[in-house]
Amino acid sequence: MVKSTCSYCGVGCGVLVDKDRNGQLTLQGDPDHPGSKGLLCSKGMNLHYTVMDQSDRLLYPQMRYNRSMPLERVSWDDALDRAAAVFTSIIAKYGPDSVGFYASGQCLTEEYYLINKLTKGFLGTNNLDTNSRLCMSSAVVGYKQTLGEDSVPCSYEDIDLADTLLVAGANPAWCHPIIFRRVEARKAAFPDFKLIVVDPRRTQTAVMADLHLQIKPGTDVTLYHAIARGLIDRGLIDQAFIDNHTDGFDAFNEKVHERSLKEAASICGIPLEDLKWAIEYIGRSKGFMSMWTMGLNQSVIGVNKNVSLINLSLITGQIGKPGTGPLSLTGQPNAMGGRETGGMANLLSAHRDLANPAHRQEIATFWGVDSVPDKPGLTATDMFAALRDGRMKAIWIVCTNPMVSLPDSRIVEEALQNARFVVVQDISNRSDTVAYADLVLPAAGWGEKIGTMTNSERRVSYLNKFAEPPGEAKPDAEIIWTFAQKMGFGDAFAYTHPAQVYDEHVRLTKGTNIDITGLSHERLRTGGTIQWPVPTAESTGTKRLFTDHQFYTPNRRAQIKTVSDANHSEPTTPDFPLILTTGRIRDQWHTMTKTGKVAKLNTHIPKPFLDIHPKDASERGIEDGDPVVIKGHRGEVRVNAKLTKDIRRGVVFLPMHWGKLFNKDFARANNVTSSLYDPISKEPDLKFSAVQVARVSAP
Ligand code: SF4
Repeated sequence: MVKSTCSYCGVGCGVLVDKDRNGQLTLQGDPDHPGSKGLLCSKGMNLHYTVMDQSDRLLYPQMRYNRSMPLERVSWDDALDRAAAVFTSIIAKYGPDSVGFYASGQCLTEEYYLINKLTKGFLGTNNLDTNSRLCMSSAVVGYKQTLGEDSVPCSYEDIDLADTLLVAGANPAWCHPIIFRRVEARKAAFPDFKLIVVDPRRTQTAVMADLHLQIKPGTDVTLYHAIARGLIDRGLIDQAFIDNHTDGFDAFNEKVHERSLKEAASICGIPLEDLKWAIEYIGRSKGFMSMWTMGLNQSVIGVNKNVSLINLSLITGQIGKPGTGPLSLTGQPNAMGGRETGGMANLLSAHRDLANPAHRQEIATFWGVDSVPDKPGLTATDMFAALRDGRMKAIWIVCTNPMVSLPDSRIVEEALQNARFVVVQDISNRSDTVAYADLVLPAAGWGEKIGTMTNSERRVSYLNKFAEPPGEAKPDAEIIWTFAQKMGFGDAFAYTHPAQVYDEHVRLTKGTNIDITGLSHERLRTGGTIQWPVPTAESTGTKRLFTDHQFYTPNRRAQIKTVSDANHSEPTTPDFPLILTTGRIRDQWHTMTKTGKVAKLNTHIPKPFLDIHPKDASERGIEDGDPVVIKGHRGEVRVNAKLTKDIRRGVVFLPMHWGKLFNKDFARANNVTSSLYDPISKEPDLKFSAVQVARVSAP
């Protein structure tokens, strides 16, 4: 049996993989894993099929010299020599900011570290961003602005101890199922436990709720302000905690009293009584916890939504003790590892600050370079806009499928068409993005390489290798360090094993708030998973942060920030009267490049669909199952309508998984999504696009 970690969502469940004499794999949950305790969801249980079915795998490097030619097989040497020559020549002619890397929350920590070091230390640009920008960058800023650093304060175990759990903009019953098992267990074991769900959709999670606040999209901040006002007015706050450990309460108090509860309930589109119940449940609870993901983060006001929700934990003093705390869930298995290594355009290793000259110099000295650029790099959507208008010339895409996952697909397509040089490093040809590559590099997949990941509760795990990569595919870390050597940076990239890369990352965390000096591949492999910080070899990890109520701000006090509740999404109009929100279904993950090839998973919901309220449908002459066209300012999508009262009137829902390769009718949700983004976190507004919906007439 080989121990590993599920490579889908950020829950990070432990798996045990076995291989018989014929090479057939079997897989089960790891009962010793503290986070998942032997449980796996439908996606995790079928993970080994993605390794066994190699029909879609990229087997050898492929290259073309111009776009009118087909891709042709080349050697690794030729492939990486060409990549190095093109990057060198573009940088010499147009400067380092003309190139960039776009990576993924599926990358292992070692891979993130290498790409970060190569880009910021040696290529001379901060143009490294990842698809985690689409997932949790608003939460990163929310934590920084309130707690002083991007640090998830609590553990999954706190769910087992909470009295009231507020789940906002998340559907863990489908998208983080093994966390939701804990919620169900807590509900069954503790009859007074209250589950509050905030979501415009009546999801499987909302079905289980004691209170479902089915708010209008974009009104989250108004809701949390109203809850705060209710808590303050009823004396249900922790004044001693506020006085001793926070700043900013007076201004916040004034702000939340700008609206009456009645006005707030009306803006949010929920009954006033329900708002009052939420205040009671939270205020009377001894252990209040919140949990959220894309519904809050993927917003033009994602940071304000995060801050206003975290404020509820601060004014009630419900942080740093068992059964409490704000728990942001990550959508991807190693989004947290990316945050630790500084693997994004505006971050530096170990939560150092790119804007801080001393922090930049520390990193530069460690890497043996003169400096790290001070100019923040281009973030995900900006990077593709820069390729489209010619400011960037080359992009290296690692383990992600932006043609399907980024908003406003038209911009992404034009960007890839306009780029001088596109490298796609991936495991599979099931990605729509491969078709735009000048150079395709075959990567090893899950179970075919060694490395580490960190899940949503700061738990670091070691991923063992149990299969050889097919054909000539190589581990991503090896591809990056070989490319760096070909670029002439051999001394700094003379690695022969990912453990050496991990050791370097570990050394950079020394003395920081995420100190993992006590970790190594060997300790993780033999000792199992552990939650950071782990500052010494003797440390057994850290279940909860801020138990002493000393926060990571300069004065050690948490900041209760006052934010506006105005939404800045694109407005609905008579021509585009409906709000489109996008999301996930139970048995698919991201753009289906892995889950889409598992027959069992495709049976749950085999085709894309549009959720629409029966009244909105009847106004348009649409019946259940009818083909419909969803038109926005940027494009259109065609799917069949699913009439359901589970969605608010005025709101429609499309799953985000399907791309062109999977659906000839072109059901790519991002054809119509807005590319507006939060001005601070740069996370796109994927939960709010103005659209119209019409029945497709028979030809
Ligand atoms: Fe994998 Fe997430 Fe399911 Fe756990 S909950 S088995 S990590 S997909």
